[in-house]
Parts: sequence; structure tokens; C-alpha cells
Amino acid sequence: MSVSFPDLLDPRKAVAQRSVFEGEMAMVRLPRLSKLLWQGEDSRASSSAKALNAVHYRFEFGRDADGRSSVLGQVAAKLPLCCQRCFERYDLVVDTAVSLALVEGLDEAKALPAQYEPLMIEDRLMRASDLIEDELILAVPAIPRHPEGQCEPPPVPSTVAPLADIERDGRSSRTDRQRHPFATLAALKTQRDDTESQD
Ligand SMILES: [Zn+2]
Repeated sequence: MSVSFPDLLDPRKAVAQRSVFEGEMAMVRLPRLSKLLWQGEDSRASSSAKALNAVHYRFEFGRDADGRSSVLGQVAAKLPLCCQRCFERYDLVVDTAVSLALVEGLDEAKALPAQYEPLMIEDRLMRASDLIEDELILAVPAIPRHPEGQCEPPPVPSTVAPLADIERDGRSSRTDRQRHPFATLAALKTQRDDTESQD
């Protein structure tokens, strides 16, 4: 019998109980992933429409033939991405198999057979959604693009700013960032606090 993921999961207990988790999770519950996704429609779409962007998952905890604590699973989703050639939305279909082994240190991780990725267990409990989110983040290409030949770069506007202006602007924005080296850090921290307080 399978059930949906709890918010927090005890992976060792799940292995001992041979737990199977299966269900759908809304992408809005995966904040690290959400930052990589197409943002264009967010302001227009209702929250119920956004919730339709769901991930299907199935994870089986147990022991393999060598007695190793393992997690085998499947994560499937349609990720809305922003194409870096035409800057329009495109959907990347992801359907990936997951093969993890529970490890408690780097030495144990290095000794794993090739078919396993290490799942480092640091505390008794882990956030179950991290298992899904980590897989999907790995599936996002470094430079998302429509398949070759399916789109064109947008036409260059006729009123292009002279190169000198662009260079000067570029320099000034760099200087702004240098002047406030901790601004980005502070923004990140605020974001993280917000995310945590939602839980
Ligand atoms: Zn494109």
C-alpha cells in the first residue's frame, strides 16, 4: 500500500518498514525548483491554475540484495521553462528514475556501487519534498532551450542603444553590486526565512 509523502520523513524507519510513497505534489511546494521555472504567467494565473503544475512521484524504501538501505523511485513532471533562444515558454517533460542509497558519510558515499546516488543522512528526519525537488533541479538544463529548429531568436530591435551606452550601463550596474556586497546575501536570507516560516 502506498501513501503520500509526509512533510518530514524518517528515512531509516521508512527503510525498516519498507514504506512506499506515491502521489502528486504541487510545484509551488518546491521553492528551489520554482525559481528555475517560467515566471511569465505567474502574475496572471490563479493559484488554483498554478497548483495544476504537479509532480507525480513514487518512492520505495527498503533493502537491496546486499542489505543496503535503498530508495528506488520515479519522478515525472512537465516543467515550464523559459527558452534562452526565443525567451518564450516551453515545457520539458521529465520522467526520471531515482536510485539512492542511504549513507552517513563521504567514505560510505564513495564506496557505493555505480547504480546508486548517495542520500546523505544527517539528521533523523528529512524533508520528504527534498527528494523530489533535488531530482527535478538536476533535470533542468543549464541553458533551457526549445529543441533545435523549433524556434528563432527574437528580432533585434531597430533602435539598438549604441555600444558605448551598453558598456557604460554594464559597468555602472557592476559597481552598484560591488558597493552593496551584502545586499544579495540579505535578500537571499529574507527569502529563506520567508520559505521557512511558510512551513
Ligand atoms: Zn525557444
